[in-house]
Amino acid sequence: EKGKPLMLNPRTNKGMAFTLQERQMLGLQGLLPPKIETQDIQALRFHKNLAKMSDPLEKYIYIMGIQERNEKLFYRILQDDIERLMPIVYTPTVGLACSQYGHIFRRPKGLFISISDRGHIRSIVDNWPETDVKAVVVTDGERILGLGDLGVYGMGIPVGKLCLYTACAGIRPDKCLPVCIDVGTDNLTLLKDPFYMGLYQKRDRSQLYDDLIDEFMEAITDRYGHNTLIQFEDFGNHNAFRFLRKYREKYCTFNDDIQGTAAVALAGMLAAQKVVGKAITEHKVLFLGAGEAALGIANLIVMAMMESGISAEEAYKKIWMFDKYGLLVEGREQKVDANQEPFTHQPPDQVPKTFVDAVNVLQPSAIIGVAGAGRLFSHDVIKAMGSINERPIIFALSNPTVKAECTAEEAYTLTEGRCLFASGSPFEHVVLKDGRSFKPGQGNNAYIFPGVALAVILSGVRHISDKVFLEAAKTLTDQLTNEELAQGRLYPPLSNIKEVSICIAVKVSSCPTLLCTGEASDGVLCQFWALHFLKDVNKLESRREQQNKRFRKLDL
Ligand code: NAP
Ligand code: MN
Repeated sequence: EKGKPLMLNPRTNKGMAFTLQERQMLGLQGLLPPKIETQDIQALRFHKNLAKMSDPLEKYIYIMGIQERNEKLFYRILQDDIERLMPIVYTPTVGLACSQYGHIFRRPKGLFISISDRGHIRSIVDNWPETDVKAVVVTDGERILGLGDLGVYGMGIPVGKLCLYTACAGIRPDKCLPVCIDVGTDNLTLLKDPFYMGLYQKRDRSQLYDDLIDEFMEAITDRYGHNTLIQFEDFGNHNAFRFLRKYREKYCTFNDDIQGTAAVALAGMLAAQKVVGKAITEHKVLFLGAGEAALGIANLIVMAMMESGISAEEAYKKIWMFDKYGLLVEGREQKVDANQEPFTHQPPDQVPKTFVDAVNVLQPSAIIGVAGAGRLFSHDVIKAMGSINERPIIFALSNPTVKAECTAEEAYTLTEGRCLFASGSPFEHVVLKDGRSFKPGQGNNAYIFPGVALAVILSGVRHISDKVFLEAAKTLTDQLTNEELAQGRLYPPLSNIKEVSICIAVKVSSCPTLLCTGEASDGVLCQFWALHFLKDVNKLESRREQQNKRFRKLDL
């Protein structure tokens, strides 16, 4: 590519940062203002402009516009200031952007596959211009953050997640493919929205939907190989569990809402254990919500408890769940599904009707909010946790910010700064009346999936075991310094997320389950990234070599 087309391609464009030599060789002279600008100046211009904006959606449009024009600059600014920009590209603002997707639309990103494409999905996948995709993030838009069914507007999520693949784990953007599957939407507002961009029909929930997903999985792996990572994101509850079970042995896949979230929450619990000095097996955990996130987290906590020496039965008994209909107890009127059964216990003498009752009756050491239903950790709930526990664990993990179970300020104020708090979306520092200041941790799977994805892609495995998420959780906790732990921090600062991700990748790629099967891939990392993390990348590469040797041995 040369000349204007080269400049119009965001992947090759550098704007005014093309050097004189490049301009001469690539036929760009005269097509740009004469000044040759450094990327530093371009970044400065971005920050100046961003500072003038107050509306989050305006910021989103601006920064994503840079991704559409100059990808190199986009990732440069994102990596330089991830802590400040992540809330725009990712939760909470991405939620706002998804709900307005058709209204703020500029250029399409990613691949759209609809139910009317059944039978030709391979040819649609063939339209994607990149020949060597290593990772796909796919949604069907049914449960976007805690915002519910946003249909095709959900495309913002795979796009945002993959931005973090590159910004946090250095995976080259051309290796990443965001996909939105459109089978209709049950969101009546969208079906009346003139700017909606998907099929104007109710969700197809018939066999055709399953056939479509089957065909999609096959088309992707047929074109890009069987070790292409396929991350499921923000599917409705029933489908999320079903597809994970159906595909995990057959494809290289994981469900981020179930498994990624599990790892980040467990990491928070393990950090709390270090802060308080209470073993994971001594905790009693009460969940608000009993869906993908709750069950994923609960099962991983069980795994961690078992590693510490107690039986599965004993571990299950330490975990309770409270959903829309109340506490999960045996014999209750409302149905309990097979995934929830292990966490459904003999009812206490007095079956609590409300969540605060449940807290008072069960006396948990930790409450984890993953209901996506707003501020349900009331002041009474938080105060009760504070009177039951010296150091109560309070995780308000629902996204975006408006759906969080409580604010950081409520949690710290109502427990006089004693709680160990984390939230799915970011909250500002909290300063108490006595002057003590707390920086709430962001318990978001963004700490997990980029590193896990990097390990999976580099090792070329075909399946991802739960052990991977257990290792990722431990590695994340290990990243905390003693000083940070002393401040009650449960996660390393977001500004360290690159180091954290690469550590997770290095650690996870030495999991025996990952080591034995893979066929290594090359050219996955952005070049500057590979240079920056030379030592760790070397470790990853030597693992790959070891593993390829084993693989070859197996071949013989
Ligand atoms: P899900 O599978 O739909 O589960 C939601 C659960 O909450 C269901 O058990 C639901 O009960 C229950 N629920 C709904 N309204 C409730 C209420 N008023 N009181 C008590 N329980 C209620 O969704 P999910 O994937 O678990 O996601 C839930 C939330 O977690 C979302 O807000 C999402 O953004 C957040 N999340 C955060 C992260 C992170 O990294 N921090 C990752 C993934 C998800 P019914 O089944 O009876 O409706
Ligand atoms: Mn999600």
